[in-house]
Amino acid sequence: MNLDEDHLDIREGVRRICADYPGSYWRELDEREGYPSEFVKAMTQAGFLSALIPEVYGGSGLPLRAAGVILEEIHACGGNASATHAQMYTMGTVLRHGSEAQKNEYLPQIASGQLRLQAFGVTEPSSGTDTTKLKTRAVKEGDHYVINGQKIWTSRALFSDLMLLLARTTPIEQVTKKTEGLSVFLIDMRGAVGNGMTIRPIKAMINHNTTEVFFDNLRIPANSLIGEEGKGLRYIMDGMNAERILVSHESIGDAKWFIKTATKYANERVIFDRPIGKNQGIQFPIAKAYAQTQAAELMVRKSSAIFEEGLPCGEFANLSKLLSAEAAWEAAEACLQTHGGFGYAREYDIERKWREARVQRTAPISTNLILSYLAEHVLGLPRSY
Ligand SMILES: Cc1cc2nc3c(=O)[nH]c(=O)nc-3n(C[C@H](O)[C@H](O)[C@H](O)COP(=O)(O)OP(=O)(O)OC[C@H]3O[C@@H](n4cnc5c(N)ncnc54)[C@H](O)[C@@H]3O)c2cc1C
Repeated sequence: MNLDEDHLDIREGVRRICADYPGSYWRELDEREGYPSEFVKAMTQAGFLSALIPEVYGGSGLPLRAAGVILEEIHACGGNASATHAQMYTMGTVLRHGSEAQKNEYLPQIASGQLRLQAFGVTEPSSGTDTTKLKTRAVKEGDHYVINGQKIWTSRALFSDLMLLLARTTPIEQVTKKTEGLSVFLIDMRGAVGNGMTIRPIKAMINHNTTEVFFDNLRIPANSLIGEEGKGLRYIMDGMNAERILVSHESIGDAKWFIKTATKYANERVIFDRPIGKNQGIQFPIAKAYAQTQAAELMVRKSSAIFEEGLPCGEFANLSKLLSAEAAWEAAEACLQTHGGFGYAREYDIERKWREARVQRTAPISTNLILSYLAEHVLGLPRSY
């Protein structure tokens, strides 16, 4: 048993593809805020992006850990999985709560790459983390729903055919619990843009192809509803543990890339007639980041195992997300500092990866909200908000 690396065949397969998409590829995309279409195509053709789609629908039916390893390797190779990961973390909602007709219609096409399910619309400008206060409304009219409202930070919306949307179907004043009355829809965006849906790119610190999406009387067929009306928040929350575990793998991949890059440079760069890596001021931050990464990775493997057993894993999914994002950030800082001024030169990819690693402390859930979860739900402290 290899305690360091499991799923070796997957890791090697992903590394082979990533070798064709070096730092220069990601750098060029970053500069023009482009979408990595060629990379997504190569990963789809190799079957990696259908990892979580069951074989019966044309996917590879792999466990969550295997999907996470795919994302980790993309990041450990210097790339970025953000263009591809939503297809994995939205899958739980569709698989567990979608109808057989929805699954038969969409999953084989997603698995083959004909359709992309990469857009996930939850966050809104005025409600932010306070999801139950979101204002986007879906009102049933005959055999359609009519949608009005706005989402923000809807990443990849311009490069996706389908969107998973959370909207309010019953006004908050009419529900007994504010978590009720929200519903999830699987929207076919192909006919929607220009017919009630407008997408505007957001210029951001990282190349995440993120957007604002406006809904102005968008009519969607009633059978776009996933599961039961009013239960949408529960379905989305169900999928969030998987999402947290998956993106934790990305942070672990980032941390490994930073540690490897920093160590190499610390050994090679000679200043004051000796490698800078001889100085403990250079060694210690890298060693500390390594220790944090090892610990975070254990938690990521633990949470994946608990998830796969079908046991409650909220605590461990949140711990994974927190610890891996912090480990990646420590490693990013150590790597940037080790490189001195050269860390700022774009051709080294460090400043790009540093910006990209930072987002995991904010999205899809911020560090503060994880700490609140642990305080309240694990430690039994009073609810703070
Ligand atoms: C690059 C990027 C991509 C994204 N992609 C998507 C996407 O595809 N789909 C999607 O739906 N969303 C997406 N998001 C949105 C992301 O999930 C939110 O930004 C995040 O959940 C925080 O919400 P907010 O930005 O509105 O912050 P706010 O809710 O306004 O919070 C601001 C700050 O206050 C803190 N805070 C708020 N309330 C409390 C409290 N009670 N206790 C302690 N601290 C608190 C927060 O932790 C945060 O640091 C993306 C964001 C980014 C940056």
